[in-house]
Amino acid sequence: LSSHNGEDHGVEDDSTKSLARKVADHYSSRSNQTLEEREASPIIHMKKLNNWIKSVLIQLYTHRDDVVLDLACGKGGDLIKWDKARIGYYVGVDIADGSIEDCRTRYNGETDQIHRRKRFSFPARLICADCYEVPLDKALQDDAPFDICSCQFALHYSWSTEERARQALENVSSLLRPGGTFIGTMPDANVIVKKLREAEGLTFGNSVYWISFDEEYTKKKFKSSRPFGIQYKFHLEDAVDCPEWLVPFHIFKELAKEYGLELVFKKNSHEFVNEYIKKPEFAELMRRLGALGDGSGDGRTLSEDEWEAAYLYLVFVMRKSGQGDSL
Ligand code: SAM
Repeated sequence: LSSHNGEDHGVEDDSTKSLARKVADHYSSRSNQTLEEREASPIIHMKKLNNWIKSVLIQLYTHRDDVVLDLACGKGGDLIKWDKARIGYYVGVDIADGSIEDCRTRYNGETDQIHRRKRFSFPARLICADCYEVPLDKALQDDAPFDICSCQFALHYSWSTEERARQALENVSSLLRPGGTFIGTMPDANVIVKKLREAEGLTFGNSVYWISFDEEYTKKKFKSSRPFGIQYKFHLEDAVDCPEWLVPFHIFKELAKEYGLELVFKKNSHEFVNEYIKKPEFAELMRRLGALGDGSGDGRTLSEDEWEAAYLYLVFVMRKSGQGDSL
């Protein structure tokens, strides 16, 4: 990994591809959990909170009959959310073939305890591809333009090189219609860097997660005007264990602007939750999901450590410039 410093492009290419493969293999190999296993997860309330955040985002920005592109769709955990928003058409793309297969199974309503469902009201297309490596405009020319592009908990995997970060934004921009909306969630680099500065060494975390930096990346790249490839190892209990990359939001915002994507808002997850929980319909959804606890008084509520881990993420909304009015 020490060659992953942007100086030798041949080596960087190999390293970048093998890291993308490592991420794909990690997600592909994660098996579907049973309902019992899921409920026993040490981060069950954080998972529910993240689902609540994604549901709120989708409800806020989706219109009936919208054509949706779900970049890095994973196992299709958001299919039900899109169904509730009454979308017209869905395209899901992910690098992990195992996840795409699980997503297909879920869409077809087969053998899934958690998302037991017979049929979705919208037609869908599922594709296995590296969204940050290849242009998607040709492959999706019959499906585009999209009203909404969603990239949930995944955009940071594009930040390993500037080329990949640009390809991700190029794909979003070229596939969205003018006035279309780009919604997403990803790690909040400000929070991660703040925690790193407060840490004694290069590793920090709590009982549900840890993040570990390699000295080589931090010193050289934090001050760089091209802050791509700042890699860290992220471990989230029962969820993630793979290399990730910091996305300095101000750079992301400026880069997105080059692709005609204007920031509507960015909020840390804590701020987002505190703001939208005040709306009765979203408070009711939180209660139904049981994200903050099931109210049984048995102590099973969102733990402090889960709430701190939720603080590692942010929510953003962007709008593709041009004619159209979707917000
Ligand atoms: N968006 C889904 C969700 O919210 O449930 C899945 C999120 S999961 C944390 C991250 C996903 O990003 C994984 O499914 C992984 O395979 C996908 N991913 C990572 N790198 C990718 C790439 N280069 N192209 C497409 N998908 C990618």
